[in-house]
Amino acid sequence: MSWLPKPYPDETFYSLLVRLHLYLGRPTYSAFSRMLTGGRHYVALSHLPCGLSALGEHLKLGRTAVDQLIDRTTTFNYHTAFASEAVRDRARTEMHEIGSSLHLVLGLATFPISLPDRLRFCPQCLAEMEGEFGEVWWCRSHQLPGVEVCHRHGSWLEGAFPVTTANRHSLVFPRVHQKGMRLETASKPTDAQALFARLSAELLVNPPRAKSPPGWHSHYRHILNDTGLIRGNSQVRANAVHDRIRKFWTSNGGFQCPSDLLSKSALVDFFRNQRRLAPPAQHLLIGQALAALPPQERPFGRPPYRCENPLAEHFGERVVTRLRTVRDKGKLHGHFSCDCGYSYSRTRQIDGSIGCVRLRECGPAARRFLGSDIAAGMSLRAKARKMRVDPMTVKAIEHRLSLTNSFNQSREQSV
Ligand SMILES: [Zn+2]
Ligand SMILES: [Zn+2]
Repeated sequence: MSWLPKPYPDETFYSLLVRLHLYLGRPTYSAFSRMLTGGRHYVALSHLPCGLSALGEHLKLGRTAVDQLIDRTTTFNYHTAFASEAVRDRARTEMHEIGSSLHLVLGLATFPISLPDRLRFCPQCLAEMEGEFGEVWWCRSHQLPGVEVCHRHGSWLEGAFPVTTANRHSLVFPRVHQKGMRLETASKPTDAQALFARLSAELLVNPPRAKSPPGWHSHYRHILNDTGLIRGNSQVRANAVHDRIRKFWTSNGGFQCPSDLLSKSALVDFFRNQRRLAPPAQHLLIGQALAALPPQERPFGRPPYRCENPLAEHFGERVVTRLRTVRDKGKLHGHFSCDCGYSYSRTRQIDGSIGCVRLRECGPAARRFLGSDIAAGMSLRAKARKMRVDPMTVKAIEHRLSLTNSFNQSREQSV
């Protein structure tokens, strides 16, 4: 990076260009742009700079150095934090090249939350930069969607300079007391706003491992399952999810975010989505609120539970998802029902120990077995061993089945 100044902590790529322009004695923009890329109209002011390979060639930077610029001085890590490896690669390629599809690749074109329309800075950060380094710069963490607060100082950011097509050749430093400063300085940022700013900034330096949309889908399904927010086998409890997430962010003093990120329909869509990228801000808001929920109490462990039907092909496999619990003077009875018709109970004692399996319903497999020719040639004990019950239970089952059969037969005769 011999041509470009060495980046300051959290400094944006745009800010490097502003400083380079100053160090070169403020040449005309077209001369400066030609020096950067060979063209006269290089876009300097952009949240996500592109054309970086051409810039690398002119500034004598290798591919690795350009990749480092992308990782360390742009908001690439933030915008690809919840993307797959393939999307990350495509986005990086877009930034190396002209980037005409970059916003499409990152989903920015369709997100309900957009990039900030102004460059922002924190006056306290500027004062510290000035004191320590004698110059100021723009920070990446202040240019993230929905972030209105400095994550270091917890103070309001000031939106100083519009990021527009008309300004794309501008090279300006952050300055306090510019026009456009925010006026609502009377109210302090809430804890929720400061937390959201910290979480957003963290993505720049420590993004999660790449995961595809189906990967994120199953990640959230596990959390919803563990926190009791899934009904039956798969239905998300939309009202409860909406309520919990809203409560988390309002209980920390409130957070103004585009309502489309956390409305009930947006949440249903988010948890159902297995194809599209969702806004990083939405992942942060949902993930943080869910992480704060206590895990659901599971006195019999995590479902699914074993099927204990020795006559079923799936005997011993964890396929049982239906569990009904009944409290009984401090003890807890769990009634487990499998789709094969077999049902059993186990009792959890006050000390937490869980008792053995007790048969409740043996299901149609027992009827088929006991009525078969194989069973007809077996002793009572052999049948009991096969069904994993004692001989008296086999007798009771046979008795009940014969009663049922004779009841059915008498009904058929009377019809
Ligand atoms: Zn600050
Ligand atoms: Zn079963």
